[in-house]
Parts: sequence; C-alpha cells; structure tokens
Amino acid sequence: MMRIIPMKVLALLLLAPLLVACGGSDSGTIRVETAFYPFAYVAEQVGGADVEVDSLTSPGVEPHDLELRPKQVGAVQTADLVVYQRHFQAAVDDAVDQAGRKPGTTIDVAKLVDARDPHTWLDPATMVALTAAVRDRLVELDPDHAATYRANADKLTAALMTLDHDLRAGLAHCERDTIVTSHEAFGHLAKRYGLTQVPIAGVDPSAEPSPAQLASISRLVEKQHVTTIFTEELVSPAIADAIARETGAHTATLDPIEGLSDDTSDQTYLTLMRQNLEAIRKANACS
Ligand SMILES: [Zn+2]
Repeated sequence: MMRIIPMKVLALLLLAPLLVACGGSDSGTIRVETAFYPFAYVAEQVGGADVEVDSLTSPGVEPHDLELRPKQVGAVQTADLVVYQRHFQAAVDDAVDQAGRKPGTTIDVAKLVDARDPHTWLDPATMVALTAAVRDRLVELDPDHAATYRANADKLTAALMTLDHDLRAGLAHCERDTIVTSHEAFGHLAKRYGLTQVPIAGVDPSAEPSPAQLASISRLVEKQHVTTIFTEELVSPAIADAIARETGAHTATLDPIEGLSDDTSDQTYLTLMRQNLEAIRKANACS
C-alpha cells in the first residue's frame, strides 16, 4: 500500500504538466474578430465550439459610425481571422489597414457581393457567400477541424436557402410592394424580393430627412394606401411615429439586423429575418 500511493502521486506529478499544456492550448483556439452581429453569427455557426468569436460592435449599439477602443484595434491585429465590410465602418477599415494582416486572414464582405447598399446581409445570398468564405478560411487556418467546419457550413447554408425560398414564396402575391422604412437599410432585401423601399432616413440613420422629403413620404403613404410605417430597434422611432400619426398608418418593427438589442437578445439572424417576413406580409396584405 505504501508503494502505491507514491506511484499515484508520481503519476499525477508527471501528468500535471501535460494537463497544463492541454489547458494552455486554449491560446491555440482560433479567434475570429467580426465587425458586427450578422458576421459574428456566421462565424459562430460555422466555427462552432472550436472557434472563439467576438464582435467589435456591442449589443444594443447601432453599428454605423462605430468608434473603436485601443484594445479593439489591438484585437483586429491579433485575431486569426477578421470579418468586416469595407466602406461601412471607417474605424474598422482603419484598424484593418493598420493591422498589416497576412493575406487570407481577412474577409471583406464588400468583395463577395455588390455592396452599393452596405446592408448586404439582408440578402440571404450574401450570407450564403459569407458562410462559404468563412468555412474556407477556417479550414485553412485549422485543418484538424475541417470536417466540423464543412458540416457546420452545410447546415447554415441549408437554413439560409430555406429562408430565401420562404421569403420569395411569402412575398410573391401581395396587394402592395412598397415598404416605408426607418432608414435606407433594405435595398438588398427589396431588390431580391421585388419590393420598393421608401426610406425615411438615409443609408446612415443619422442622415435625417428634410421637411419636404417628409411631406413627400406622407403623400406617397396616402396615395398608395400604405398601412405600416416600419421602425427599428436601434434607431429612434420619433419621425416614423410622426408620419404614422399624420397619415393614419400604424407602425411595426422591421429589423435591419445590424445588432441585437435587449428586446432581441434571444433571437438570431434567421428568426429575425422570419419576423421581418411576417411583418411585411401583414403590412402589404400578402396571401
Ligand atoms: Zn444601416
């Protein structure tokens, strides 16, 4: 008995450095830095448990005009992979430029799709393209987990294609095709599903409309019998409320999915897109 205990102790002593080394390999976990929520969602879904994903834009913060803390600029430099979209957040563009990142360790979503309207993620086809790009980069960076990344990407792609099909079918037969939106965020969605977007604010929600523009929106709402003025979670609904009062329309939420808020923290890109589909179907009397 006296000999067995020291053996066990010895075994533990020998194993201890190995255990520490395994624990320490967390620093070898692939770390993905993303610009804002929809890109983080794709990285999380494709990366699964093998990848650590961070978003530069905090929940509840509207991502236009994001400013970065020095620590975040450092994170853009040290991350294994960065997913962002050029010409959407100048601070992120600058951080990527300063980081001097190795080729193949940065994904610019603007290079995957036509990004004249920056809200690319509201077209599920963009998210499919991003899913493939994230998968390919992760497979390169971490070949040991290639099978997992491929399986995760296949699963997300299937869900996005089902979403696309349901949006197309759900918006095919409607009494109206106009959506009056809080800011000009739905260009890609409108183009893909045959809608006409009438935005209250510009591409950037802080670009407020003039009184003449507001009057013109109100006239259009009345002429086209628009039932609903769409508001969003992260932008003040004051102007949308005023137009609704003036025209007798009501307001409903159409989420540009630029980030999650306290109210949507339990939602995902997929569930929010389905809520958007139902909101448009109701507003435009789709059958
Ligand atoms: Zn926006």
